[in-house]
Amino acid sequence: MILENGVVRTMDPVLPVARALAIAGDRVAGGVGTHERALVSPERVDLGGRCVLPGFTDSHVHFPQWALAQRQVRLEGTRSLEEAVARVRDAVASTGPGRWLRGTGWRSGEWRPPSEPTKEALDAVTGDVPTALQAKDGHSLWLNSAALAEANGDLAVPGGVVELDEHDEPTGVLREESAWRFRETCVTTPEEEWLEAMRDGVRVANARGVTAIHDKDGWLGALGYFQSLEDEGSLTFRVWQSLPHERVGELAEVGIRSGFGDDLLRVGYLKVFMDGTLGSRTARLFDDSGVEITSRDELAEIVRCGAAAGFPVAVHAIGDRANRDALDAFEATRDAWEPLGLRHRIEHAQLLAPEDVGRFSALGVAASVQFTHAPSDRDLADDFWAGETDRAYAFRSLLEAGAVVANGSDAPVEELDPLLGIRAGVLRTLDHRAAWHPEQALSVDEAVHATTVAPAWLARDEACRGKLVPGFLADLVVLDRDPFACAPSELADVEVVATMLGGRWIFGGPPFNRTG
Ligand SMILES: [Zn+2]
Repeated sequence: MILENGVVRTMDPVLPVARALAIAGDRVAGGVGTHERALVSPERVDLGGRCVLPGFTDSHVHFPQWALAQRQVRLEGTRSLEEAVARVRDAVASTGPGRWLRGTGWRSGEWRPPSEPTKEALDAVTGDVPTALQAKDGHSLWLNSAALAEANGDLAVPGGVVELDEHDEPTGVLREESAWRFRETCVTTPEEEWLEAMRDGVRVANARGVTAIHDKDGWLGALGYFQSLEDEGSLTFRVWQSLPHERVGELAEVGIRSGFGDDLLRVGYLKVFMDGTLGSRTARLFDDSGVEITSRDELAEIVRCGAAAGFPVAVHAIGDRANRDALDAFEATRDAWEPLGLRHRIEHAQLLAPEDVGRFSALGVAASVQFTHAPSDRDLADDFWAGETDRAYAFRSLLEAGAVVANGSDAPVEELDPLLGIRAGVLRTLDHRAAWHPEQALSVDEAVHATTVAPAWLARDEACRGKLVPGFLADLVVLDRDPFACAPSELADVEVVATMLGGRWIFGGPPFNRTG
């Protein structure tokens, strides 16, 4: 097959732009540029001036959780209790037997006339479909009677609140610890429901140009779910799977190490947390505030165990202290992992001491960041990290210091949409406001690199994915226009027209109508 008459951005510095791309089987064929006419009677696809890029990787996504969240009733923006209940009513019919009806986003303070949610209001439309609706801030849960019955009256938890009515009966609203525990112990998800949601989710991701992900949900059984999708033929992106570091001993016992799997699904890396988050003020900072989940010495031990078992580590670190400790741990254990060529990564790396920025490249530890977090978090960061945000979300500083910078969405925290991520990395704003710390903005080329080339390196695929050069897998995305050439204000309009995985169209595909 020859894709011709377009702008092919290969992401290879030797030949960055071509007008055509030849594909044979699942690979990019030799002769990108002018030699493609040498092929025998190929299928010709007219790109009509459109742009081709390597397929996108989302380098940090909680895929099963994001997929399940796609099916929730969205209650954001409801202006009254009635409006919220009406949205729930519309969703009841599509909730399968024995399934939970889930929702999120309500905020009773915005309802007029002023009212509080009750189980009775839900019961009227849900009947006995157990229903759990999370508040927008995540700290309250609104349940119907069928849901409450699952707890057998056991709702009270230290640190939790059970709202009661005038008869001392639960109103249906739980807060804080009571809400958390209810969600963890009562709101169950059968395997088939995970698979249904993920099947749909894979198609949505493909439609957004995604041909690979680095998944963070190994702890909830994602590997098995992805394997089921692969068995039935519906896994149409490549997965680099994380697993909880606590299981490294069992993995070592049976001899499974990083890279085990096939060209679609592979066991990748170990997941560890150093600290909490910006939003909950649990990120660990140099002023000793925040929560330490893993100490420097503990991480060093985890890295050594991981190396002995053949695994790289991806460690979540948000605050500057957490990042310092993580870098120290990688440095202290270098003798154990460097000879093995393990590709460790720090997830988020949101606040860095200036003297730590250069250590990522010096150590060969990648920064796995989320470009969308900068515009999304700017108000919180300006508030909680006042006066220090010139070293927050410092993506350009990291790149200029030579670090491998990979971009992910952290969906469902943000939307799973690589083009949105690229735009956030370039513009440093996603609303009407001016760029936040524009000195940290990236070029389109750098943002695309972090979404294609860098994540392929992290998955040890730098010799077969992430660029459109001969011999590489034909994983690519066709865009309606060239993001490298359009005005910054036009980036929001760039659309995915088609996506190819290993030479096969998995979304859209020819014929492409000529652009007008
Ligand atoms: Zn995450």
